[in-house]
Amino acid sequence: MPEPAVIIEVCVECEQDLEHCHGTAIVHFDGSVDCADDPGCRLTLEHHLSVVSCVELECLCGAPPAEAAWPGQAAAAS
Ligand SMILES: [Zn+2]
Ligand SMILES: [Zn+2]
Ligand SMILES: [Zn+2]
Repeated sequence: MPEPAVIIEVCVECEQDLEHCHGTAIVHFDGSVDCADDPGCRLTLEHHLSVVSCVELECLCGAPPAEAAWPGQAAAAS
């Protein structure tokens, strides 16, 4: 007798056999993306089911040096 309690959720991408990741993408200040769940994952953030800013994980990559913080401001400062 099958157990009716277990419901396997299949996401749309799984159904369509698309390249995607069920992990959480960590977005860094320079725009690079790490996968929190799969170190070998090279997918972009739109291929992830959830996305988090690295700031929330207390990543230090974003401690922006004042002069290099935002290109627009640096260009206008001369
Ligand atoms: Zn999936
Ligand atoms: Zn970071
Ligand atoms: Zn991933």
